[in-house]
Amino acid sequence: MQQFFESVVTLIVRTSTDLPPDVRAAMKHAMAAEDGASRAGQALAIIGQNIDQASDLEGAICQDTGMPTFEVKTPVGADQIWMKKQIKEAIAEATRRGKLRPNSVDSITGENSGNNLGPGTPVIHFEQWERDDIEVKLLLKGGGCENMNAQYSLPSELAHLGRADRTLDGVRKAILHAVWNAQGKGCAPGAIGVCIGGDRTSGYVEAKQQLFRSLDDINPDPRLAELEADILRTANTLGVGPMGFGGKVSLIGCKIGVQNRLPASFFVSIAYDCWAYRRLGVTLDSSTGAITSWLYRDPSVATIPMMDQAGFTRTGREIRLEAPIDEATVRSLKVGDVVLISGRAYTGRDAVHHHLSEHAPPVDLRGGVIYHCGPVVAKRADGSWHVTAAGPTTSIREEPYQADIIGRYGVRAVIGKGGMAGKTLAGLKQHGAVYLNAIGGAAQFYARCIERVDGVSLTEFGTPEAMWHLQLKDFPAIVTMDAHGNSLHKDLEQESSEKLAQLAVK
Ligand code: SF4
Repeated sequence: MQQFFESVVTLIVRTSTDLPPDVRAAMKHAMAAEDGASRAGQALAIIGQNIDQASDLEGAICQDTGMPTFEVKTPVGADQIWMKKQIKEAIAEATRRGKLRPNSVDSITGENSGNNLGPGTPVIHFEQWERDDIEVKLLLKGGGCENMNAQYSLPSELAHLGRADRTLDGVRKAILHAVWNAQGKGCAPGAIGVCIGGDRTSGYVEAKQQLFRSLDDINPDPRLAELEADILRTANTLGVGPMGFGGKVSLIGCKIGVQNRLPASFFVSIAYDCWAYRRLGVTLDSSTGAITSWLYRDPSVATIPMMDQAGFTRTGREIRLEAPIDEATVRSLKVGDVVLISGRAYTGRDAVHHHLSEHAPPVDLRGGVIYHCGPVVAKRADGSWHVTAAGPTTSIREEPYQADIIGRYGVRAVIGKGGMAGKTLAGLKQHGAVYLNAIGGAAQFYARCIERVDGVSLTEFGTPEAMWHLQLKDFPAIVTMDAHGNSLHKDLEQESSEKLAQLAVK
């Protein structure tokens, strides 16, 4: 089994950097469905370009390389304790190589372990089977989409849909509610794994298991096959669209499993995955550990690029912003404007926002740009830093802090994804600032919009949470919340809720 370790490293690297063919096909279908000149079409062009850049250069598709979940099947008598140690070492090695972002933090202190290892990380499930070879499957699922998971206890009264009973129609309502509720926060278009039944714990486990199915398979249970097709069709009439920008494609897959339940319980558990649906697998020779075949992809078939033309192309209507930005410029922007940002931006996620709510910033933020981003950053031989993956993180987590930070320190623009809520919207209007939605998961694309790293503050929070001083060049984003009290997110949530209400009766 001397090759087991390197085989698992290869699986991790490939999963993080090369989207499987079934997901690529679904995303190509989405690109064909949306008007290329629309917000949805532009978002998908950036995503398509990002997918190609990631596989061409073996870079992380998204900077959030997620919670690694392994499903391992072994012959009877195999040494699972040894394999577990090897898998953990492979995770640490892939992190060292920059293919995984250090993502495992102490839940109480927030301290990052630095190597993706710690209690509960990675998740490894073993099962014995009667075959002689070993199967290892891996899912990398990020935090933004994980936060959109949902569990419903039926019967339940659902906003806009009314009562969901303990019937397949009630299950349908719960699933549609979850897709609607995710809006763009989980980087739509997404795919969902669903479990009907089980208990609270086994329901979520089975829902995640469903994400190991191929997007193009057909459920062997005809009732569930029909429900899956119905959900896929119906969810795509809600108008949530890519990134929650509005559009025809909100969902690229729906996979449903069933578990028996206690008579007193009826749970519907939903695991929401984003477009960066990273899932691959291998079979290994049980005497050498060498890879004998790949699952979900045929290595003899060359990867078909997502883009058969240039990716994101400028229309000439984009507005150039140069940071620091003055108030008059910011107040002239309106929802729907596409901007190209150049100049200094500072990254800030949860730890930075919490810190700034109680302490003065380590840099002058007047006229500045805060980027909700936890980048993957590598050190060159000469000691300088460079960013290898840098897409936006979900902004709503900073809602309790953002308006105060904007007002107190004179911030003029916040870049993130998924939008923010009423307190921030009021703060933008009061202080003269805008919220700019970048394309979630487009980590390779945006890394190329960062000319250099000029410094870093607050390194005690760990690499993803530190405040990186970035020099941007023509970084594209869309104004989705302006200084006049307008919010694209609020408007689209309202419109899609009206469509959801119309679906209450099939
Ligand atoms: S694509 Fe979006 S939701 Fe998915 S892992 Fe990346 S940031 Fe998170």
